[in-house]
Amino acid sequence: MEFRIAVLKGDGIGPEIVAEAMKALDTVGEKFGHTFTYEEAPIGGAAIDAVGECLPERTVDICQGSDSVLLGAVGGPKWDSQPPSNRPEKALLGIRKELGLFANIRPARLWEPLADACPLKPERLKDGLDLVVVRELTSDVYFGDKSRDADGRSHDDMTYSPEEVERIARRAFEMARQRRNHVTSVDKANVLETSRLWRETVARVAEGYPDVELDYLYVDNAAMQLVLNPGQFDVILTGNLFGDILSDEASCITGSIGMLPSASLSLSSRGMYEPIHGSAPDIAGKNLANPIATVLSAAMMLRYSLNLPQEADAIEGAVNRVLEAGFRTADIAKPGDEYMTCSDMGQAICSEIRNG
Ligand code: NAD
Repeated sequence: MEFRIAVLKGDGIGPEIVAEAMKALDTVGEKFGHTFTYEEAPIGGAAIDAVGECLPERTVDICQGSDSVLLGAVGGPKWDSQPPSNRPEKALLGIRKELGLFANIRPARLWEPLADACPLKPERLKDGLDLVVVRELTSDVYFGDKSRDADGRSHDDMTYSPEEVERIARRAFEMARQRRNHVTSVDKANVLETSRLWRETVARVAEGYPDVELDYLYVDNAAMQLVLNPGQFDVILTGNLFGDILSDEASCITGSIGMLPSASLSLSSRGMYEPIHGSAPDIAGKNLANPIATVLSAAMMLRYSLNLPQEADAIEGAVNRVLEAGFRTADIAKPGDEYMTCSDMGQAICSEIRNG
């Protein structure tokens, strides 16, 4: 099959890590008989340098004409003096809006060979750690009315419509069907009216997915359970604010920022895939970055947008074998141990995809 991928390398380490993810896609393509055609477009600081704006219209058009979007990272000190409306990070909000991306998917998985990097005690991990947080992205307290009274009292309006809850809930249940058929919906329904709507709506959506187990947790308990027994979770479904916090918590219990992919999905099959880390200006241009988060983001693209689960497994399996073989970039190497470059890590993953 043939697929058109929009490639937004961005700033800092963006070009280095995205290059390795493209090599992994090409290697999977050779192995399974697919062709990936890439169309590159500038975003963030690179776009400011090229055309003066962080999100050029042409970049949006290229993304809209693609089957999916692969993004590196944006930002860096060079553009810190830009006005707020033209900061590189602003481009991310813009592209999410233009592509209708309302669901943010963040997997947190413990890679067995990196178990040492996990801050939890081994007995907390007896049931493993392999979950995804499905976070609503377009509503909640971030987008409600904001105001400040004369006496200083301040307000942030938390809002959700039934339609907004329903579409994110469907995404979570669909995702659970591609995983272990279990959704945990997280809210604060003992206090918040939006959470009571959330619960009612999720319960209604669940009727259409009798094969998926559903349970509910209050957000305070969910935060606790994540560090006490993360193995109990498969898909965590939650709103924008709670998802912001829980997805960071889930990420940090896996150990390294260079290992964590993410996806943002819309109602169509097109999604945007990117590592959760930033542009790491401190190591940019040195061939030192860990490309695995971006390579795994490409694997998520294969699974969730291009419907190629076997091909996604091929990449994830290759990453695991490379780690098992002891290959490490600087960020995941033990102090004093040898480590490899970004491009050598990409090469090692491609060899494993070929041999797997
Ligand atoms: P960062 O994630 O870029 O870096 C934090 C630390 O992690 C740094 O020490 C960096 O070297 C290290 N690191 C990050 N990714 C790595 C990788 N793949 N391999 C090895 N080490 C890695 O966060 P920051 O320093 O707070 O932000 C730098 C810039 O990135 C800022 O301009 C920020 O606004 C931007 N940013 C962009 C995104 C995005 O594009 N989605 C996300 C977060 C931050």
